[in-house]
Amino acid sequence: MEILVTGGLGFIGSHTVVELIENGHNVIIIDNLSNSKIEVLGKIELITGTKPKFYQMDLLNFETLQKVFKENKIDGVIHFAGLKAVAESIQIPLKYYENNIIGTINLLKCMQDNDIKNFVFSSSACVYGFPNKNPIDEDSPSNCATNPYGRTKCFIEEILKDCYMANPTFNFTILRYFNPIGAHKSGLIGEDPNGIPNNLMPYILRVAEGKSDKLHIFGNDYDTQDGTCIRDFIHVVDLAKGHVKALEHINNSGLNIYNLGTGKGTSVLELVNSFNSVNGNLVNYDFVERRPGDVPVNFAKTDKAKNELGFETKLNIEDMCKDSWHFSQTKNKL
Ligand code: NAD
Ligand code: UDP
Repeated sequence: MEILVTGGLGFIGSHTVVELIENGHNVIIIDNLSNSKIEVLGKIELITGTKPKFYQMDLLNFETLQKVFKENKIDGVIHFAGLKAVAESIQIPLKYYENNIIGTINLLKCMQDNDIKNFVFSSSACVYGFPNKNPIDEDSPSNCATNPYGRTKCFIEEILKDCYMANPTFNFTILRYFNPIGAHKSGLIGEDPNGIPNNLMPYILRVAEGKSDKLHIFGNDYDTQDGTCIRDFIHVVDLAKGHVKALEHINNSGLNIYNLGTGKGTSVLELVNSFNSVNGNLVNYDFVERRPGDVPVNFAKTDKAKNELGFETKLNIEDMCKDSWHFSQTKNKL
């Protein structure tokens, strides 16, 4: 299939592009490089032997987007492009609503104008807010995000449901990711945000690289086995493969929602301890106040993706820690 990947030079997008190419798909990438680097295109070529067609452009530019749809015979769209920093979204909500929601609407309009039916959307476990049970299944209340970033995901999910009601020939697959970490085993691509990171693994790497003294672990008084929060960390390569599975099942599938996680909860402290035991004791930490808005525990119920898409994760926490650190070291050598 000819697949348009928006945000294809970003963290999850670049790994998905690699998996798509390795599974015989043709890929066209759109990215405005607001949180990625052009070098990633060359890294994708080094890994796969194929350089995907690339448009450096913004999804907010509707006229240019229309041209991309006219110039290519697109069979489906995987939509990663979006802003994703929770704290920033609280400070500049309009930028988040504009970028994430208008960008998506522009894409959907182009799909409608060109009679393209297949759309895979990057949603997030943050739509579940504070879940009333774990593991969380796809029918749990899902309009519950606690910040503007998360609300863009809730709103886009609702927009997709409305478009599907109006035109049930669309195939919309909504993937709710849990916590992607790790990197490609080559060490060539991984998470490399512009600016100071605020997610856990990029911060662990910063400390391991010596750029920060200590990791601050936010809260050790939660009602969990070691007092730190619990998350469902998923290797980005497994997550990328989930998108290939989603595409394989998309024809005539209608609107479907899947959790993509491992189904296993790991505490923040367990992750840090694993990182230190796999890579040498590189990360000092201390415990500080809870971070406002943090969900104490969340991990996925994964049966639906397993039964309907045949999706199962293969890589474990040690792989995630090893591959993240390998990427970090390779990046700093290049
Ligand atoms: P990322 O920032 O690494 O990748 C997003 C890419 O989109 C970047 O390369 C950025 O330059 C591009 N982009 C942003 N706005 C754009 C626009 N208007 N036009 C064109 N390009 C634009 O993020 P990621 O971690 O790869 O996340 C991909 C998607 O998955 C996002 O939608 C994110 O919200 C979602 N998601 C991520 C996580 C996570 O923890 N990483 C979890 C759940 C959901
Ligand atoms: N976290 C932490 N120190 C950091 C960054 C994150 O202790 O520097 C914790 C955070 O409190 C949360 C977990 O790591 O419990 C995952 O945070 P992240 O921002 O990566 O993902 P999310 O909260 O969106 O699941």
